[in-house]
Amino acid sequence: MPEHQLPIARGLRGRCPRCGEGKLFQGFLTLRPRCDHCGLDYGFADAGDGPAVFVILLGGALVVFAALITEVVYQPPYWVHAVLWVPLILLVTLAPLRPIKGLMIALQYHHRAQEGRLIKRDGE
Ligand SMILES: [Zn+2]
Repeated sequence: MPEHQLPIARGLRGRCPRCGEGKLFQGFLTLRPRCDHCGLDYGFADAGDGPAVFVILLGGALVVFAALITEVVYQPPYWVHAVLWVPLILLVTLAPLRPIKGLMIALQYHHRAQEGRLIKRDGE
């Protein structure tokens, strides 16, 4: 695998961004304190609202588009919409959440991204 693809693959698989062996998660979305393989401290990891934003934007657009097309083309009774879209909403929101969180943490580690800090200059 090319070197530049490593963080993406490790993140999507929920593995440690440094060694790719240790697990990143201990619950569904809860991070382990550190890598059980190489000891990397996961304290730096803060995906924030990032995973939820991508899931809402992509999954929401997909479900709304599918519902609109179905309504315009077939005009089914409302219970058909409920039967179709409730499971699809659960699928497109819950399934990608963990891989996307892993991906964002892996990219955060790879690019050394962190909060901005003020640096005092000499003489000020
Ligand atoms: Zn590791």
